[in-house]
Amino acid sequence: MTVRLRPEIAAVPPYQQGRPAPEGGFKLSSNENPFPPLPAVVEAVQREAERVNRYPRPGSPQLQQQLAEELGDDVDRILIGDGSASLLQQLIHAVAGPGDEVVYAWRSFDAYPLFVRTGGATPVEVPLDADHRHDLDAMADAITERTRAVIVCSPNNPTGTIVTPEELDRFLERVPDDVLVMLDEAYIEFVREPIPDGIALQRERENVVVLRTFSKAYGLAGLRVGYAIGDPAVLRGADLTGVPLSQTALGAAAALAALAHRDETFGRIQQVVEHRDALWQRLVDEGVPVPRPHGNFVWVPSQPGQEDAIHDILFDHLLVAKVFPEGTRISIGEPEADDSVVAAAKAIQALQ
Ligand code: PMP
Repeated sequence: MTVRLRPEIAAVPPYQQGRPAPEGGFKLSSNENPFPPLPAVVEAVQREAERVNRYPRPGSPQLQQQLAEELGDDVDRILIGDGSASLLQQLIHAVAGPGDEVVYAWRSFDAYPLFVRTGGATPVEVPLDADHRHDLDAMADAITERTRAVIVCSPNNPTGTIVTPEELDRFLERVPDDVLVMLDEAYIEFVREPIPDGIALQRERENVVVLRTFSKAYGLAGLRVGYAIGDPAVLRGADLTGVPLSQTALGAAAALAALAHRDETFGRIQQVVEHRDALWQRLVDEGVPVPRPHGNFVWVPSQPGQEDAIHDILFDHLLVAKVFPEGTRISIGEPEADDSVVAAAKAIQALQ
C-alpha cells in the first residue's frame, strides 16, 4: 500500500527553480538583486539572531505598522507574509476551491497555476497579446459565474510588460464585485512609466488586493518577506489559510532596516533601472526584439521547441536564465555579464 495523494495534487507539475550558475558564470534566472545586503540589514539580522530561541511576534506588527504609515493606510489593511508568493497562495486558497476558476494571463508567474491547482480550483489562462502584454479585454471576457479571482501581474513576470492605468480601470469596471482581483506588483519599484495606483485602487474597491515583496528591489529574497494591502476581511481570510508564526523575526528586522535606509536602497534600484535600460537599448540595436522591460529582467522571445537549443546557447555563454517555450527571461545582474547576455540573445534570435 502506498500513501495516496489527493488526485489534484498528484497531477500538479513541480515548481522549476533556477539552476546554480556554472563556475565563472552568472546566475540570471531568478530576478534576484545583484547587490549584497546593506551593512545595516546585516547588522539588524545579527541583532535579531540573538533572540531566535523565541518565536516571532505573530503578524510582524512593527513592520506592519511601518508599512501602514508609509502607505497612509490602516494597519489592518496590511498583511505580512513569508514572501508574496505565500500571500498569493493564501489568498487563492481562501477564495477558490473545487469547481471555482481563477483567471490570469499566460505566460505569467509560474506559481499561479500551482497555487490554483493545489487549492483544487481550475486555472483559466488567457494568452498574452502579440506584444507580450496582458490582454485585459480577453481576461474580462474569460470571467464566468465560477470565477472567484483574477490575477494581474504588472510588470509581468516573465515578459516585463505593464498594464496602463486606463486599461486597468476599464478592466476593473468589468470585474464583478465579488471576484477578488490580485494586483501582483512584485517588480513595481523598477517601473519608470505611468502605472495604475494600486494603493488608491485597493482603497476604492473592496475586491482589489495589492501584493508586494522585499525579495526583488529590496534584495531580501533569502529572507522571505512580502506584504498584501487590501480589505481587512479578505486579508483575514488569507491569514487563516497561512501557517501561524511562519514569518521570521529576522526577515521583519531586515525589511525594517532596508526601509530605514531607503536612500541607499533606492540608489541601488536606480542603478538596476539604468543598467536595464542600457542593456535593452543594446539588445534592440543588435536586432533582438525585446519588449520594453519594466522589471529587473529582459525577455528574449523564441518559439516552442527551441528550449534545448537555447539551454545549449546559455550554457556556452556560462549563463543561467529561465527558458520558457515562448522565450527566455534574463535577469539584470552584474554588468560584467552583459557581453555574454547580448551574445546569447543574438544567438537565440538567430534561431528564429
Ligand atoms: N510575484 C511575481 C510576479 C514574482 O515574479 C515573484 C518571484 N519570482 C513573486 C511574486 C514571489 O516573490 P516572493 O515570494 O519572493 O515575495
